[in-house]
Amino acid sequence: MGSLSRRSLFRAGAGIAGAFSMQNLFAAVQDNSTPYQRPKLKITDVKSANILGFHVRIYTDQGLYGDGEGVDAVSGGPSIVQGFRYSLVGQSPLNIEGIWERIRTSGVFGGAQAGQYVATLTAVEVALWDLAGKALNLPIYQLMGGKLRDRIRVYCDCGTDDRNDPQAKAYINQVIDNHFTMTKIDIDDAADPARFDRVNWTANNAEIDHMVDKVRFMRESLPKNIELAVDMHARYDLGTAKRVAKEMEPFRLVWLEEPVPPENIDAMKNVRDSTHTPICCGENIYMRWGFRELFEKQAVDIIMPDIQKCGGLMEGKKIAAMAQAYYIPIAPHSQASPIGAMATAHMLATVPNFLVVEWHWSHPATRWERWKNFVKQGDIIEKGDIPVPDKPGIGVEMNEEYLRKLPGVTWFPA
Ligand code: MG
Repeated sequence: MGSLSRRSLFRAGAGIAGAFSMQNLFAAVQDNSTPYQRPKLKITDVKSANILGFHVRIYTDQGLYGDGEGVDAVSGGPSIVQGFRYSLVGQSPLNIEGIWERIRTSGVFGGAQAGQYVATLTAVEVALWDLAGKALNLPIYQLMGGKLRDRIRVYCDCGTDDRNDPQAKAYINQVIDNHFTMTKIDIDDAADPARFDRVNWTANNAEIDHMVDKVRFMRESLPKNIELAVDMHARYDLGTAKRVAKEMEPFRLVWLEEPVPPENIDAMKNVRDSTHTPICCGENIYMRWGFRELFEKQAVDIIMPDIQKCGGLMEGKKIAAMAQAYYIPIAPHSQASPIGAMATAHMLATVPNFLVVEWHWSHPATRWERWKNFVKQGDIIEKGDIPVPDKPGIGVEMNEEYLRKLPGVTWFPA
């Protein structure tokens, strides 16, 4: 390992404050710390594409590239990622923490605390891990500390929750026949005919009865060993949330998700303190600073950061470590394609307090078909789990020939 000389450290820090000193320090580290045989890769380009979602590809001077994915908050992603170019091009893709921190701190006046900026940075960070793994010939889980488990348990979002749905039996059998050990339904219903007001989210008795009936129907229909979680989608007021959490108690849910909106941690804690239904949130919270108050106030039983938007794989691991200190498990939210899902699986293989990860592509049938063909390796879910591959990087490759033919797909335009 090369050493960082006192002189270069002095040069890096001398007389320059804030982001500028960090930028110079970062350059000094890269110039001085290349260990023997570490590939001297340089990033040459970064592009994004709409491939049933937001994908980033980072290119290098040696022909290697890395793939990353961001979700949900990435509507401005293509222009934001081009704004990151100056922090990427010419850098070594192996310095993932340094690049991440430089991009994050350079955006603090532009919304780098959450939202589109962080979700786009997330996609970039995942692409850097894929690239680092390919360059070093190691799977991402190995770079992140090694595996605690070989398979990542997945839960399947169910396509039904209604006893009057003619498709209900087929959807429930889909969960059972594909060996999933858990499923989830949404009980918030903007179109419930019992609603008195289209804007206000105080549920009346009839609405709450409808919610309870959905859960009762699912519990009656599922075998006992298939667990059930319920999502309220961050819509309702505090009183409704507490009433519903109480009504859910007999059903022994794995969790009740986002019973109130995510911004007010005291309200979330209020719900948690009122019930023994486990409360879960986190898909709309970003980075370790966003999660801090949730832990300190002990406002939840389970966290569900979205690893494709919360800041990336290492940020997800750090959030999980914070959660572990409070004896809280992590059950990530996920809408990702097999690229993001597999990247997430690598990280989760290294996390002791991992519980289960979401999967959202089972319906409609065309979406499941696309899932199975998205990467060359085919369906990455096997009997309700994702087996973590030993191949370098993420370990799966996009099926370009198939994906290019799908409507709306743009393939990394110049
Ligand atoms: Mg949710």
